[in-house]
Amino acid sequence: MTYTTLPEGLHPDTLAIRAAVERSQYGENSEALYLTSGYVQPSAEAAARRFAGDEEGYTYGRYGNPTVASFEQRLAGMERTEAAISTASGMSAILMMCMGLLQSGDHVVCSQSMFGSTIKLIGSDLAKFGVQSTFVAQTDVDAWKAAVRPNTKLLFAETPTNPLTEVCDIAALADIAHKAGALLAVDNCFATPILQRPVELGADIIMHSGTKFLDGQGRVMAGALCASQQMVVEKFLPVLKSGGMTLAPFNAWVVLKGLETLGIRMRAQSEQAMALAQWLETHPAVERVFYPGLDSHPQHQLAMAQQGGLGGAVLSFAVNTGNPDEARRRAFHVLDSMQVVSLATNLGDTKTMAAHPASTSHGRMTEAQRQAAGIGQGLIRVAVGLEHIEDIEADLTRGLDTLT
Ligand SMILES: *Cc1c(COP(=O)(O)O)cnc(C)c1O
Repeated sequence: MTYTTLPEGLHPDTLAIRAAVERSQYGENSEALYLTSGYVQPSAEAAARRFAGDEEGYTYGRYGNPTVASFEQRLAGMERTEAAISTASGMSAILMMCMGLLQSGDHVVCSQSMFGSTIKLIGSDLAKFGVQSTFVAQTDVDAWKAAVRPNTKLLFAETPTNPLTEVCDIAALADIAHKAGALLAVDNCFATPILQRPVELGADIIMHSGTKFLDGQGRVMAGALCASQQMVVEKFLPVLKSGGMTLAPFNAWVVLKGLETLGIRMRAQSEQAMALAQWLETHPAVERVFYPGLDSHPQHQLAMAQQGGLGGAVLSFAVNTGNPDEARRRAFHVLDSMQVVSLATNLGDTKTMAAHPASTSHGRMTEAQRQAAGIGQGLIRVAVGLEHIEDIEADLTRGLDTLT
């Protein structure tokens, strides 16, 4: 695939706008959207070479597409990895990673605070195929170390986590993984390469849900893995070819254009989230606020060092009382009183969204798993967007000030 020739050493903000495949003969300034499932081959010989992998060139839409390649090139440039490979969703990126790297009898260590579907996929679905897993406390480095076994092939971390924004030490986990001959993968969905570039801290694989901040306006599903060229070509591309979790060109184009504004969005939405977190901390009906930018956050120092001084655009707060049923009723009252903020479980949008994790995103977990992850019935997650901060605060005030 021929990519635009750019000078060496460009900043991620520049790559976010400039990295792509070459312009077509028409000289379009905005990247072209190639909607095609097949490709006309220049000759039978060339087709044979391309299918054999001896010559670069597109052969079939499941295997590759120029618009999809532009997105991959751009994301890899921003994450500072050699290559990236994209998928239809974030979850299919995790599936591709596990299928590419693991076999029956292998063992994975994950945090018990990971995204709910990730826990389900690795802990239950892949267990059917003989993949073993251990889920440990996100912030307990010793627990990660103790969970490693001779057959451990992968450590998989997500930081900050959803919804409690727990931060783990990427460099420390990379060290544990590498000493054990395993790989470290990081779900970088919440921080994005604007706040944190895990490869620079020693991670081997970066996983993304493009559905979130990369798109940035809640339009399409997408996913990706960023890694070395060798890992992408030898481990992940074969899974894509046979598994078919291919990113649609149109979705790739939307996310590709989303990357152009990722920097300004992440910085602005992080600032808004910080202001909202500080305000919530002063509200009498709020028991606790979870946000890495706050001094009260248990891993505040680590988060600021690891995330370029920004807390990200997601926070949670608890309107707990001692009683779970009462806490749930209160949380529902706050959510049902909103007139501006969307009651929605997505995140990473310019539209602020709030949701009740215990009954939605984390509803498939057992109560014991939820308790282990600390997700109470009074918890509300807010994915902060770009509306005026006073309007967001006023919208939450409606419910918070009328709790009985
Ligand atoms: C949404 C999300 C995923 C899954 O991504 P999809 O695109 O919804 O499949 C994985 N990890 C995190 C942290 C997420 O927020």
